[in-house]
Amino acid sequence: PTLSYDLYAKHKKSVPIKRPLRIAILTRAPSIYSTRRLVEAAEAHDHEVELIDTKRCYLNIQSHSPNVHYDGKPLPYYDAVIPRIGASLTFYGMAVVRQFEAMGTYCVNTADAIGMSRDKLAAHQILARHRIPMPTTAFANSPKDTNSLIDLVGGAPTVLKLLESTQGKGVVLAETKKAASAVISAFQNLEANFIAQEFVKEAAGSDLRCFVVGKKVVASMMRVAGDDDFRSNLHAGGSAKKVRITKEERSLALKASKAMGLKVAGVDLIRAESGPKVLEINSSPGLEGIEKTSGIDVADAIIQHIENHVITSPIAKAKK
Ligand code: ADP
Repeated sequence: PTLSYDLYAKHKKSVPIKRPLRIAILTRAPSIYSTRRLVEAAEAHDHEVELIDTKRCYLNIQSHSPNVHYDGKPLPYYDAVIPRIGASLTFYGMAVVRQFEAMGTYCVNTADAIGMSRDKLAAHQILARHRIPMPTTAFANSPKDTNSLIDLVGGAPTVLKLLESTQGKGVVLAETKKAASAVISAFQNLEANFIAQEFVKEAAGSDLRCFVVGKKVVASMMRVAGDDDFRSNLHAGGSAKKVRITKEERSLALKASKAMGLKVAGVDLIRAESGPKVLEINSSPGLEGIEKTSGIDVADAIIQHIENHVITSPIAKAKK
């Protein structure tokens, strides 16, 4: 059986490799800000970095020498892979990352962790199991339970979220119970899965993005919704500003990323009257908004994290 990287590192005294590393960034977007910054940061540390189009990887699944092929050839061994997997490519991207894990490459986020955080419903259940505060959330199937579902999350106004959606696009605020029932009925007729959630009014359309690398929140920002919206996503017209997060918020963000098993994560918190609550956890958080708002070199923090976690190949060692 393949040793997991973490398990191996735990058992052996892990000594970071002190030489230029070979790093691959798995991405479909080679020219966007996040990718460019990661390349810059890796090169600034003298590492060799390659951009790999996730969709063009194909997998040779065999027990003796699993590898990843690309453009007619097997890829070389990478010390580390930075997966930047978009929501639309989760399934395929997870398979590719899993293959790199099988080869003993240090994957900044594992396939399992990416999958868990992408499944919004499962992610909420896991957060709850770890006693991590979040807005009261409920899930139902039958139209017969619509009334009870709305009551369960405290009645109107209610937030309804499509499970297969990102960037706030599938998030609706239903002001009245009637409106909530109508939206739920529409979702059910489309056979779309959704969750209902307590509306945290006092957040006033803002949330906190905490950027976690390893065991630290390296940067944070506050995102504020535009005038006629309650969603603070930058893609939905929100704007970002500098913020100082509290100790409690910092430790909550770390607890949430740890529960998901993510080493690099964008944890979104909302400031409720009763304390901070987790809204969601992103496994491929963008760098542009957070770096420009906070002035912090987040890409560099990711590269430093890799430097501290790439040890001698677990596979090569295990074979000896
Ligand atoms: P997505 O994954 O599509 O970004 P989110 O769950 O993060 O969806 O919601 C998008 C935005 O809507 C959040 O950033 C926040 O500003 C707002 N929002 C989401 N849930 C709530 C809630 N329960 N109460 C108040 N505002 C919320």
